[in-house]
Amino acid sequence: MDVSLGYPDAEGDYSDTRYFENVPVTDTSYFSMNTRKEQWVELKQDGDGDGVFEKSYSAKFNSSAVDSGERTRNMLLIVLAVLLAVWLGLHIFNACRRYRRSRFCSQCGAEVKSSQNFCAKCGAPVQKIPLVDFGIIGYPKEKKGFKITKIVFTCIFGLTAVAGILLYRSPACTVYRQLMDSQYQSAERIYENAVRDTLVNEKYFDILSDVYLMRVEQAEEQGTISEAEAQEAYDAAAGLTD
Ligand SMILES: [Zn+2]
Repeated sequence: MDVSLGYPDAEGDYSDTRYFENVPVTDTSYFSMNTRKEQWVELKQDGDGDGVFEKSYSAKFNSSAVDSGERTRNMLLIVLAVLLAVWLGLHIFNACRRYRRSRFCSQCGAEVKSSQNFCAKCGAPVQKIPLVDFGIIGYPKEKKGFKITKIVFTCIFGLTAVAGILLYRSPACTVYRQLMDSQYQSAERIYENAVRDTLVNEKYFDILSDVYLMRVEQAEEQGTISEAEAQEAYDAAAGLTD
């Protein structure tokens, strides 16, 4: 299947077209597309009709679509590369500081050589500071309490991130996003297949539907959507939970 989506400019020319080419289609395929003009327009595919979009293609300004999974992986790689660079940078910076510190006596401040065991001036033992210690950034005197706090915060951060991803990817949230994109049929199908009569998702969607109604109300007040569009949005939300 080939799909293209064009956006007319002020002169009425289709100056921005997004192409989705050779998208595989099966008898049970459902598609959903966010048609709002955004940096990335996304075509989502539910191949087996179970209400979960397994595949997604995204296309930017005047371009052919790429596999969204690949796009996410590429972005993750970039983030990882940046993190690695920061981590390495910190260690190099730290090694320089350690090197400078290791050249002077910690007692009297006289210059010492790394081959000396004792300071020639005051006789204090020369501290052997390893230049690189991949376990700790900073000097090797880290308080135990601080370490535990660090571990606890890392765990909390990790769990929050995982919970966030799970909540975002849940069918209830997918229905919410479909409603926000005015994809009412698709929202209804996913609701019937994956949210209705489920313990957690149904409750979660109750909360999300309140948020949705609030946002529709807001958009209506601000005049970004017409009264008729708002009514359609209200009806769609009410129709789901009937
Ligand atoms: Zn000394």
